Amino acid sequence: MYLPAAELHQTTTLSEASALLQRYGPSARLLAGGTDLLVDLKAKRVEADHIISINRIEGLKGLVFDDTTLRIGALTTITALDESAVVRERFSPILDATQCMAVRQVRNLATVGGNLASAVPCADLPPILIALNASVALWSDTGERLLPLNEFFIGPRRTARSESEILSGVVVPEGSPGFGAAYIRFGLREGNAIAVAAAAAGVQLATDGTIDDARLVLGAVSPIPKIATAASQILIGAKPTPELFTDAAHRAAEESDPISDVRGTATFRRELVSVLAARAITKACQRAQETTR
Ligand SMILES: Cc1cc2nc3c(=O)[nH]c(=O)nc-3n(C[C@H](O)[C@H](O)[C@H](O)COP(=O)(O)OP(=O)(O)OC[C@H]3O[C@@H](n4cnc5c(N)ncnc54)[C@H](O)[C@@H]3O)c2cc1C
Repeated sequence: MYLPAAELHQTTTLSEASALLQRYGPSARLLAGGTDLLVDLKAKRVEADHIISINRIEGLKGLVFDDTTLRIGALTTITALDESAVVRERFSPILDATQCMAVRQVRNLATVGGNLASAVPCADLPPILIALNASVALWSDTGERLLPLNEFFIGPRRTARSESEILSGVVVPEGSPGFGAAYIRFGLREGNAIAVAAAAAGVQLATDGTIDDARLVLGAVSPIPKIATAASQILIGAKPTPELFTDAAHRAAEESDPISDVRGTATFRRELVSVLAARAITKACQRAQETTR
């Protein structure tokens, strides 16, 4: 498989990249780490006459924590997330996802922005970031807008990003005491295997220990990361118990909309959801309880 011919544009500012996107429209693609794009170009899943490299734009790099929210620059790599002290200390549920992603060589290149912008249904970061109530920052020459991440995905490989917008970062609010989150996925092997099914949970406990708020998010079992609304409702207002978690997880399986492919049948994926969702809720509740001690 060869990389089709295309003109490469190396940019150093957002304005430059956005102007090129406007000039070349659908025949242009942004390039960050290239771990999705180059594979897709070779496989002819996408076409591009112009490749606009953004990986030298300094403003898209790094993590900033301002005491209430973490801003993750779009070019932050999976390795950089893993090694970040603030992620380890205050946003550790993100590590549930990063630590099961790919192998070292890919993780060193793969960016957070690319993982979200690809909008592949089995991507690992979207479910946990949605469970953490994250928003994406979308930059255009008229300014930057914030969009809740759960509104960003509109179909497989389709997002609410307009043609000239660049995903500039992800904003994650720090949970208050009593909040916990977790992500669990099933892959066919360790390392370079994408998720067959995945579940993330974010729960907020009230002072009496009941579940005040809950968000259960499913990955790889619907066209976009799916908030299992009915399953989340089962949790809200209840005391956390294993029976409750099982009930909610079975409801989540009913809410999923999986496909059958080489990695597993739809029936198998639904079974996986009922197991993974229960585990994710259990872990999220344990973590929430730890923050109140
Ligand atoms: C061997 C292998 C294993 C993998 N394993 C996993 C895995 O376990 N879990 C997982 O989730 N993924 C996995 N991936 C997929 C991939 O590594 C990730 O999705 C990665 O985070 C993509 O980031 P990137 O910087 O390489 O994106 P790129 O390939 O550079 O870009 C991907 C897409 O996003 C667009 N884009 C990139 N940055 C921006 C931006 N800032 N604004 C707007 N659009 C943008 C590009 O135009 C392109 O369409 C794997 C890939 C490979 C090759």
